[in-house]
Amino acid sequence: MYSAGQNILMYHLACVNCGATFPADEIIYNCKKCGHLLAVRYPLDTITVKKQTWSRRPLSVWRYKELLPVTIPPVTLREGGTPLYHLERLGKEMGLPHLYAKHEGMNPSGSFKDRGMTVGVSMALQLKKKSVACASTGNTSASLAVYAAKAGIPAVVLLPAGKVAVGKIAQALMHGAKVISIRGNFDQALEMVHELCLSHGLYLLNSINPYRLEGQKTIGFEAFDQLGEVPDRFVLPVGNAGNISAVHKGFMELEELGFIDRLPMMTGIQAQGSSPVVRAIRENLPEVISEKNPETIATAIRIGAPVNAEKALTAIRATGGLAETVTDDEILQMQRDLARKEGIGVEPASAASVAGVRKLALMGALDHNERIVCVVTGHLLKDPDTVIKQCEPPTEINADLPSLLSALHL
Ligand SMILES: *Cc1c(COP(=O)(O)O)cnc(C)c1O
Ligand SMILES: [Zn+2]
Repeated sequence: MYSAGQNILMYHLACVNCGATFPADEIIYNCKKCGHLLAVRYPLDTITVKKQTWSRRPLSVWRYKELLPVTIPPVTLREGGTPLYHLERLGKEMGLPHLYAKHEGMNPSGSFKDRGMTVGVSMALQLKKKSVACASTGNTSASLAVYAAKAGIPAVVLLPAGKVAVGKIAQALMHGAKVISIRGNFDQALEMVHELCLSHGLYLLNSINPYRLEGQKTIGFEAFDQLGEVPDRFVLPVGNAGNISAVHKGFMELEELGFIDRLPMMTGIQAQGSSPVVRAIRENLPEVISEKNPETIATAIRIGAPVNAEKALTAIRATGGLAETVTDDEILQMQRDLARKEGIGVEPASAASVAGVRKLALMGALDHNERIVCVVTGHLLKDPDTVIKQCEPPTEINADLPSLLSALHL
């Protein structure tokens, strides 16, 4: 039997801009007063969970159920509990002896989106919704398809035509989602699915949904438990900026609970051709200016109008973090370095976090003693085409030993 965390029914939704509050079971994706983003707020002063209680449970999203909104038995495929690797070789090259990667590609569908979807799809059932939907650059749709299948409810996913990696489409199709390709970009697909959900009652599970982000904040909780201390810096690739916002929120909750006494410097990395958040930080803008035609090989972060930008700007500014861009070449170089020097296979967007650290280190922007956790967000097999294009093809030979020896220059 699943037992929910204590006091869990007492949470509510709050606007991050005007502070208006709404009941937890009201199905809204924006503040009804001012239209800004919503966040889940718990009565943290009444939550009595102990760190030891958590450490007795398996490392997973649900270890932290006292800080999650789900009160029914969750829809779970054992997400989270991903490895935290010490990047010894790459760290040494960069002069960063305490550089780590949290490999979110090791989740059930191969990306961190599963942390959000186990909570989000559970909430769909808790709120008595009969179907779910999302727009996606790929991984959100793969994950939603998986969790909707597990829950036994239909899923609709909208993708930008021609811009989704093949592994991700394969997952969405095989797990039985209704897959729609939009002749447009991700930002347009999101607008459309948002309207569809409001008019036809499907449950929207993009990262504008505050419950989905609740699951994703557990990346930070796990890294804290695995390291045994708060990392000095947390580095994430930024697309819609939901994940960086979620991890920041999680650490603020740990601080309020008295489990930690400082926050990591939240650091966001974007692709050069798709970098509205970095621009807003650099130019000290009050909000991001959308980019009409974002372009990068890292399709998971090819987003010109990040829906969670408001939360992400707060996260980066309030923690003294950084925001930086990397080129597609820097991303691909790091994808190869992670694969060949550390044995870590990730998709291009995921390599952006570590590529960003390499660039920041070269710029002298980092302290060499920092404990740095990079989130590598999705698995190498998500986007095999981009991998194959970078590598020498296999050497084909006749089926005899002399041919083999000659192929091996022996
Ligand atoms: C979704 C995704 C991102 C971007 O996360 P946001 O929360 O949208 O900023 C980065 N990498 C991968 C692999 C993703 O699937
Ligand atoms: Zn508001």
